[in-house]
Amino acid sequence: MNIIMMGAQGTGKGTVAGLLKESLNIPHISTGEIFRKNIKEGTELGKIATQYADEGKLVPDEVTNNMVRNRLNEEDCKNGFILDGYPRNIAQAQELDKILGDMSTKVDVVVNLNTPTDEIIERVMARRECPNCKRVYNMILNKPKVGEICDNCGTDLIMRKDDTREKLQIRLDTFFKETKPVIDFYEQKGLVKNEEISISINRFGKEVAEDLVKEIKK
Ligand code: AMP
Repeated sequence: MNIIMMGAQGTGKGTVAGLLKESLNIPHISTGEIFRKNIKEGTELGKIATQYADEGKLVPDEVTNNMVRNRLNEEDCKNGFILDGYPRNIAQAQELDKILGDMSTKVDVVVNLNTPTDEIIERVMARRECPNCKRVYNMILNKPKVGEICDNCGTDLIMRKDDTREKLQIRLDTFFKETKPVIDFYEQKGLVKNEEISISINRFGKEVAEDLVKEIKK
């Protein structure tokens, strides 16, 4: 099963993808996470990505597409994968079709998460990440047990560099301008499954993931 997670920043793509990964036993591939890891490790890829990612801008397509092609050709993707954060524009969606065509496979489902914009802003401002084990918390919805310390490994939590109000606005603008058309691209192919995630309807990533797993396993 090849799944794509779509949705604006802070809608919970990573949370849903993480839960799907556990239940379906396929890898969760977050392009943002791969870039952050490379930036931290100071690799060549990281050196290119940092100038864009730190500003909330998209890394050039050629760099991103190559990275995704290499990752999808790894052994653990043979039985499927969950892509989170890619494709982010039409050119990437077209390239993904080529990558998957070369692998004799295709996109099975696109899960599109929708959350009201004011809630998105609130969620992203409350997001904290463990720099060590990468677990993600939310100081409103999913707090650690003690202060701002990771439950899993005891490390002090941090805010992502691009989770400032100013950079979030740049990222949201890019989402509405460049990524929304990708959802329409997949809508036309009949692949999109829309899901609402919002505190106002008491529906969160966990419930969405559970329902998706039930449907997929049917
Ligand atoms: P994310 O964690 O998905 O918000 O991604 C963090 C940052 O990584 C983005 O703001 C971009 O700079 C970069 N990035 C992640 N995925 C992509 C992509 N598909 N295309 C270009 N840049 C990306």
